[in-house]
Amino acid sequence: MGYDLARFEGEVDEELLCLICSGVLENPVQAPVCEHAFCSACIHEWLKRQSTCPVDRQVITSAQLQSVPRILKNLLARLTIQCCNVEFGCSAWVKLDVLNAHLSECEHNPKRPVHCDLGCGLVIPLDEIGQHNCVRELRSIIQTQSGQITDLLEKVQDQQQQLIENKQEILLLKDIMRSFSVSAANLSLPSPSRRSFIDHGGTDEVQRWIQTLQPARVTRWGGMISTPDAVLQAVIRRSLSDSGCPSCIIDDLMESAHERRWPPGLSTLETRQLNRRKYEQYFARRIPGKQAVIVMSCENQHMGEPMILEPGLVMIFAHGIE
Ligand SMILES: [Zn+2]
Ligand SMILES: [Zn+2]
Ligand SMILES: [Zn+2]
Ligand SMILES: [Zn+2]
Repeated sequence: MGYDLARFEGEVDEELLCLICSGVLENPVQAPVCEHAFCSACIHEWLKRQSTCPVDRQVITSAQLQSVPRILKNLLARLTIQCCNVEFGCSAWVKLDVLNAHLSECEHNPKRPVHCDLGCGLVIPLDEIGQHNCVRELRSIIQTQSGQITDLLEKVQDQQQQLIENKQEILLLKDIMRSFSVSAANLSLPSPSRRSFIDHGGTDEVQRWIQTLQPARVTRWGGMISTPDAVLQAVIRRSLSDSGCPSCIIDDLMESAHERRWPPGLSTLETRQLNRRKYEQYFARRIPGKQAVIVMSCENQHMGEPMILEPGLVMIFAHGIE
């Protein structure tokens, strides 16, 4: 669309007018043979509807349009035009070839960004400053931001929930790991240093505890329970613990309550029958209130390696303890 003729200073040659819009040529192009000139926008719009020159009806297409001669461009460039922001207070007259440069910095340009100096400090287009309301603008910014904050908070809460779930999984895994390592520790033999410690009479604590237990006599060795179940083992453990058994040896002692951990002299039914007479030589003490005895290594050194275990043996009977 060409420039309004009324904005130009002095007469404008007819050669410089668009034959479609009658304005002064803007970005002019010309038809290939007849050389009629038009604004680029005007002729492209025209050719969408018909492929002919609007002046003489010669057949043309968009691809055939050419740039205008330099002389025509120079004539256009020398025209003097009024700034289009005249209604906003600009009184500038400029050469047509620098019009765009002027518009980009024309201080009367209604779309020029300006700082609000009423207090909010926002940057707004000049033509919106009349309706601008600092409080309303700031409130709408706050609403947008509080929406964003709510979204962020929801994300954080999701992540916190995820962390809690992860933590629970880790705790569960730790529990499993701990129960594995406890089983592993129970299966392992006492360490060499601990073994020699116990071989030399055990700790004072163990010695003091043993002395509190009553010596026991087993009248029916055949009543020995070689594979006590978990409930029975728990009952015996509880009784040992109540009697003051030091916690450092209670796991080892309870492990010895089952035939899978018994020494060679007790390990099978056959060896148990072969060694029956030897059992009379065990020095046993009563586990309080139970049909069970404890045979401590430190009090049974005379029995020899195949018949005793560190730190001692727990023997559970169906009956026959005095
Ligand atoms: Zn035009
Ligand atoms: Zn033509
Ligand atoms: Zn201006
Ligand atoms: Zn403001």
